[in-house]
Amino acid sequence: MEAKDSRMGSYAWRSILIGRDVIQRGARWRVGDGKKIKIWQDHWLPKKHPPQVFSYPVAEFESAKVDILIDSSRRQWNEEMIDGLFKAKEAELIKSIPLSREASEDILFWPHSSNGHYTCKIGYKFLKMEEELNGDSQMAINNEKELWKGVWSMCVPPKVKTLMRHACREAMPTKCALFRRTIAADHFCVRCHSAVEDSLHALWSCTKLDAVWSDTELWRVRGSAQFMMFKELLSWQASKATPVQQPRRPRNNWRPLPSELFKINFDGVVFPREKKSVIGFVIKDHRGLVIASCSKLVHQELCSADVEAMVAGCALSFALDVGVKRAGLECDSLTVIKWLMEEERLLVPLGLLIEDAKQSAQHFDKLLYSHVKRECNFVAHSLARYAIGILDFLVWIDDIPPQFYDVLQVDLIDLIE
Ligand SMILES: [Zn+2]
Repeated sequence: MEAKDSRMGSYAWRSILIGRDVIQRGARWRVGDGKKIKIWQDHWLPKKHPPQVFSYPVAEFESAKVDILIDSSRRQWNEEMIDGLFKAKEAELIKSIPLSREASEDILFWPHSSNGHYTCKIGYKFLKMEEELNGDSQMAINNEKELWKGVWSMCVPPKVKTLMRHACREAMPTKCALFRRTIAADHFCVRCHSAVEDSLHALWSCTKLDAVWSDTELWRVRGSAQFMMFKELLSWQASKATPVQQPRRPRNNWRPLPSELFKINFDGVVFPREKKSVIGFVIKDHRGLVIASCSKLVHQELCSADVEAMVAGCALSFALDVGVKRAGLECDSLTVIKWLMEEERLLVPLGLLIEDAKQSAQHFDKLLYSHVKRECNFVAHSLARYAIGILDFLVWIDDIPPQFYDVLQVDLIDLIE
């Protein structure tokens, strides 16, 4: 990756060097033990354009590597050090990077594909994205047209479309716009007081809007995807909008397991405002009787897939500890179930947590995976949410907290039917 270009180089060699430049611009480090990654020079932060640290390096730390930010004995970020070295937003971003239970080597991955592998096709897509971000190409103009075509065909009242247009042009009376026109004294959001209020913040990312977005399909996206401008969010939404969906018959996803198998349900929830994640799982036998349950607080704001993968690992390792070796594993994250079943190596950071879970999975005699709807995973979901009020973790043997008996009862009724 360090080879230099030369005038004498052949056409093929130059083409390789150009390809290498694309990889260097687009690839990102997945943090394992942090020994290879230079904090201030390398691409390793989970954000777009460019995934690099912007906080100014503290003297004598200029060439430091990421391993100094990790407490290697506990396999956790050294929060005090991170808060001391970086600006608040960057510190939060670093602390949101998942770490695996066992230290592994840092690897380069391609963040623009779902499995982290680089292909020419995705490389081309990345170049297109870069060009779009540069803003002046014909391609960007075409995309803009496509975007508005998508927006105008959305099934929403006209005034909502007008609002979206104003938001894209930053033509809303946000604190940012008012500050620019010297009408307001500062540009901070009056609701959360912790961020600059532009359109994206006012309509989407402000933590005071959690209640608005929490019940919608977008909740998971809001926790995991990062948009820089409102237009980016809108393009994403317009590309996802499907005109009319065929109504589907509601289906009960509950399936009884063979009598020798235990059922492990798990779930994870992210609390962005508290900068914490919570996990919960419950192990039941084939009659629906609880063997054990657990609520655990994770002092890290992970993205939703990461936290679900983390709980998969914890639940499996706990199940082994209580002697369960034949089980069905269920959760409501299709991504996590898919990757747990996949043989291909996942290079993105989520892959570290999937590998943790797969490590435990190897010790089972039989393990089935299935994806269930959230309503069929409600005990695990309730256990996860319960963890936000506890200090670290709680385990109940042969039981769950009494306040969730009602939810468990629903599962048992399903079993009888
Ligand atoms: Zn706010």
